[in-house]
Amino acid sequence: MLKPNIVILDEPTSGLDLSVQATVLGVLDGLRKRLGLTYLFVSHDLSVVKRMCEQVAIMYLGRIVEMGATDEIFARPRHPYTQALLAAVPRLEPGSLHDTPALPGEPPSASTARSGCAFRMRCSFAAPNCSQARPPLISMGNQHMAACVRLNEIEAAAGN
Ligand code: SF4
Repeated sequence: MLKPNIVILDEPTSGLDLSVQATVLGVLDGLRKRLGLTYLFVSHDLSVVKRMCEQVAIMYLGRIVEMGATDEIFARPRHPYTQALLAAVPRLEPGSLHDTPALPGEPPSASTARSGCAFRMRCSFAAPNCSQARPPLISMGNQHMAACVRLNEIEAAAGN
């Protein structure tokens, strides 16, 4: 642990109340800047990810489905799973909790998700070609990548 270049932080703020969490994140941020560290930061808390990370990789069933600069992913999520995750983040606007559609179903077991897109049983954009092969990560420029065979259709549906 003497003078590491990279530190892996696995859910470092899990279970902490908000004030302790803010203190821990402040200490980690200070150490990173002072010692020139790189963190590999694992978290389910998207607000913490947004605060701490410059690059993010979104994983579903153990595989990366989208990755890129944090600002870009949060502003323009392209994979349906990332879109669902970000839509589920609670907001303080009146009525927003009721506007958020729940992601249907449960994650399949790793054995039933061996072929095709592992997210297809829960994806509102799923089509027959989604079950043919596991989608590779596709570059969309600006170091933004997503693993989905229907990115163009999803983009068109969003009106982008
Ligand atoms: S490949 Fe198909 S099922 Fe998978 S995320 Fe894209 S549209 Fe949805």
